[in-house]
Amino acid sequence: MKSVPHFWFEPTPWVDGQWRRGMGEITVPNPATNLTLATVMRAEEELIQQAIEGADRAFAEWKRRSPVDRGNMLKRTATLMIARRDDLAALLSAEQGKPFAQALGEVDYAASFFQWFGEEARRSYGRVAAHPEAEREFFVEHKPIGVAGLITPWNFPLAQGAKKIAAALAAGCTAVWKPAERTPLIALAMAPLFTEAGIPKGVLQIVPARGAVVGKIFAEHPAMRVLSLTGSTATGSALMADAARSIKRVSLELGGNAPFIVLPDADLEFTAEHVLRLKLFVSGQVCVTANRIFVHESIEHEFLEILSHKLKNSVVGNGLAENVDAGPLIHRQACQDVDALVSQAISAGATLVCRNSTFERDPSLKEGSFYAPTLLSDVQDTMQIASHEIFGPVIPVLRYSSVADAICRANDTPYGLAGYVYGQDMTRCRAVARELEVGIVGVNEWRPLKAEIPFGGIKQSGIGAEGGEEGLHEFLCTQVISMPKPDLVR
Ligand code: NAD
Repeated sequence: MKSVPHFWFEPTPWVDGQWRRGMGEITVPNPATNLTLATVMRAEEELIQQAIEGADRAFAEWKRRSPVDRGNMLKRTATLMIARRDDLAALLSAEQGKPFAQALGEVDYAASFFQWFGEEARRSYGRVAAHPEAEREFFVEHKPIGVAGLITPWNFPLAQGAKKIAAALAAGCTAVWKPAERTPLIALAMAPLFTEAGIPKGVLQIVPARGAVVGKIFAEHPAMRVLSLTGSTATGSALMADAARSIKRVSLELGGNAPFIVLPDADLEFTAEHVLRLKLFVSGQVCVTANRIFVHESIEHEFLEILSHKLKNSVVGNGLAENVDAGPLIHRQACQDVDALVSQAISAGATLVCRNSTFERDPSLKEGSFYAPTLLSDVQDTMQIASHEIFGPVIPVLRYSSVADAICRANDTPYGLAGYVYGQDMTRCRAVARELEVGIVGVNEWRPLKAEIPFGGIKQSGIGAEGGEEGLHEFLCTQVISMPKPDLVR
């Protein structure tokens, strides 16, 4: 069993390079035991305002820095994260619940954004454009927009922060980061690393605080220029409404209801393995997890057999223990919410194929927020489980008879974040992938997200993108200067 490292940071807001006293308190439990891990001080209105104002002061100098300097600090942050990878992962696992191996993966993934945007910082290109009048020309420039408000969820508390911070700072913006109430520790743990990497005080502020309070302050403060949120669609809608009053730019990464289409020629062993990995990853509490598994009627029986065998052999446990496939859910209420969706589906005609409750025999897990991985078949599109984000390790299988019908049903949702297509005929897989109304498709791949590519949803799954060269543009604004051409001949 891994142990939680001694804290190298203070559990208080971090503003202008200092640990500051907050007003209220946030109790952070380990969801595997529900024992308190730490009590964190919360920033209230006055300190949040100070954080924005400090970031605004720091912006004046940060935007003038050479992009190479800014990039080097971000790359140094990546190196420092990798040097402390085990400590960061153990803290992340204890606070969020995910297995240690998955937490290590999140540290690496988060560091890859600091590395990527550290490199991209110097690639913010403008252009010179032709003017309709012969003696004039246009300069089109991309400039940092100003202070960015960054709000992140608890499921990837480090990676979601890294995506936003790295892009904002690379672009030349300064930022105020508000981590989720359930997971402020991993955010605060990054503060000393930012300092060690050379990032000046005020360039990044970290304020654990209540979401609705922060949303209103960020939306109203005149120095705040862009609000970037990763969270639920309901929160995105609330923040957008708040931001509308002062016409602030928003960048939103929201909820999903990803379809996973298993074509008749799919390799069933390989596909079942990937479905299981995807659904046990962070115990299904992932915006891009498969929410609806569409399986062709000709292969359904065999596929369910293979999948149930694998599911029965998976290991649920404390994320800090060895060889665990799935950790707890974030809290007990989450277990009840998932169970309500499963019960509703079963009472509406879904079949419970199997459930892996072996963890119930382990007395050390009795107080934790665990939910048994569950496989359901005969799921219908009209059931709540097919239209709501499940956010738990539940695999709902929906039967289809024609691929065209599966595509149509896959798109019949207000969400459009991710999709998956599994099969052996690559021409057909690509054709199906192109029909899906989502921001990203994995063909025979369950984890296609990388720093090198833009990731963002369509429909009610969001606005904008993170990663790739596009990620930088969320924090840049465009200015055109129209000028006379220099004329040396005259
Ligand atoms: P949430 O929407 O409850 O909270 C997200 C963040 O928003 C938290 O920091 C919270 O404090 C804050 N918040 C809450 N109300 C707010 C308000 N009115 N104004 C401003 N901020 C507010 O989401 P969650 O439960 O933490 O995370 C799960 C959700 O996030 C799921 O819907 C999931 O799909 C989504 N998510 C999306 C992505 C993506 O990239 N699209 C990634 C991860 C999670």
